[in-house]
Amino acid sequence: MTQILRIDMKNLSAKMEPAPEDFRLLGGRGFTSVFLSKEVDPLCDPLGANNKLVFAPGLLGATSAPTSGRLSFGGKSPLTGGIKESNAGGQAGQYLARLGIHAVIVDGAAAPGKWHTVVIKKDGVKLEDAGGVAGMNNYETVEKLQETYGDKTAVISIGRAGEMLLSAASIAVSDQENRPTRHAGRGGLGAVMGSKGIKAFVVDPAGTDRAPLADAEAFKTAQRNFLESLSKHPVTSEGLPTYGTNVLTNVLNEAGGLPTLNFSLGRFEGAEKVSGERAHELITERGGKPTHGCHSGCTIRCSGVFVDKDGHYVTKEPEYETVWANGPNCGIDDLDAIARMDRLYDDIGLDTIECGAAIAVAMEGGVLPFGDAQGAIKLIQEVGEGTPIGRVIGSGALVTGKVFGVKRIPVVKGQAMPAYDPRAVKGMGVTYATSTMGADHTAGYATGANILGVGGKVDPHKVEGQVDLSRGLQIATAALDSTGLCLFVAFPVLDDPTALVSICEMISAKYGVTYSTDNFIEFGKKVLRAERDFNARAGLGKEHDRLPEFFQLEPVPPHNVVFDVPNAELDQVFNF
Ligand code: SF4
Repeated sequence: MTQILRIDMKNLSAKMEPAPEDFRLLGGRGFTSVFLSKEVDPLCDPLGANNKLVFAPGLLGATSAPTSGRLSFGGKSPLTGGIKESNAGGQAGQYLARLGIHAVIVDGAAAPGKWHTVVIKKDGVKLEDAGGVAGMNNYETVEKLQETYGDKTAVISIGRAGEMLLSAASIAVSDQENRPTRHAGRGGLGAVMGSKGIKAFVVDPAGTDRAPLADAEAFKTAQRNFLESLSKHPVTSEGLPTYGTNVLTNVLNEAGGLPTLNFSLGRFEGAEKVSGERAHELITERGGKPTHGCHSGCTIRCSGVFVDKDGHYVTKEPEYETVWANGPNCGIDDLDAIARMDRLYDDIGLDTIECGAAIAVAMEGGVLPFGDAQGAIKLIQEVGEGTPIGRVIGSGALVTGKVFGVKRIPVVKGQAMPAYDPRAVKGMGVTYATSTMGADHTAGYATGANILGVGGKVDPHKVEGQVDLSRGLQIATAALDSTGLCLFVAFPVLDDPTALVSICEMISAKYGVTYSTDNFIEFGKKVLRAERDFNARAGLGKEHDRLPEFFQLEPVPPHNVVFDVPNAELDQVFNF
């Protein structure tokens, strides 16, 4: 029997209770979204005592399923005002699942100025005074906490941005090397954690084992088949392990869909200098690691370790979205500067997409020139210092645009758009507009069929087919985010029908149920319905499922296309 850990920050108490039977097959995003929809008032103050911070390992947590350690965090977002799920790698997801913890629910809020560490072990849960680490950023926080609790633990923490309740604050999860490099970045959930008065969770897996399996032989067979699908697909077996997600910089640049200078152009002349291919060369020459897993049990290993000219660790290999937001989008073509920014974001605890977008908006507003890498680094440092301009950037692109009188602010539902221009990759535009999460590339990754030729082919410049494409992907993603598997398994899932069958067989074998591909799709719909219901009650209706007007009015070079998917079609995305 798995347990729900409920933490009440008003009374500083923690208790375990059995996971209700109807939540048994809800993991990851499925749990966070269905739970929030049932138990949180959508009109509550996102930073108030009535909001809840929820996190849950996926259905395949604590198993040998490859990439199954993702941990979903949820709450009402201070950035969008709607429901939020944001998931991260790192070690904590597997450790929580090994402890038999189905989900953690944090309610209430501690007295202002009081910080706490929640220590979760096999023999119990304790809330301890975190005064010793309050005011520290993530790297130092992890180091200090592990001096106390041991280096075989995983740490979930916030940096200064979360303590300051900034809307772009992330939640960090420590990786295999005990570094806080994995973040639930989107939607300001770090501020929700800060609003509860929690600086960190320490998760100690000592004395635990993998989850029991109802049918170990069937699980082993399905797991082997799934592994074979991953190892056969060129994206998961070659592209991602070799070049990381940043393999996309050259691809999107070639396609004319790489947003450049705050979404003014679709190509960046310095793209090659910040590409995944260049990062691979640089990391290899300097003795870093071009291939690395963000948590144990990942066989794709899309990450890497970025080192400086002297071979010293700087940060993990910056991901495509980070490189784009702080590179081409800001007119910056210096990988070392981008790596430095990535390190600062991880340390202060910030969403690299939201803040990169905010800096580009600030550049358009004349705060600093496009291409000013050192100026961008200084702005991020100022977020950590809590200066007025730093707090503006740390509040995201929308606030930054309003403060500096910028009209071209690339956000949906208050959340900054990621690294695919919605005019040149229209399927992504449909996902940005309609996702329950605000602009979010992971919610329905239409780049696959629009640009990469994965999961079919839909012309990226045409309206036809984009709504159907985004709908199917959003449903499948909502289900996949509930398994604890990394989204990147979607590449083989889209091209090889046996991969999804294997996932469903692993779930069946773990839980002793019959879980079919139809169940999987129905489950995705259920999650989306719960999220849409929450958002509707929070005041986010179909009029919020729109892109900013400038995407319809300003053609983006080199293809000179606008976003022209009619509103009536956007309103059909959730017609299921
Ligand atoms: S594929 Fe990349 S992001 Fe996904 S679990 Fe592995 S290392 Fe992490």
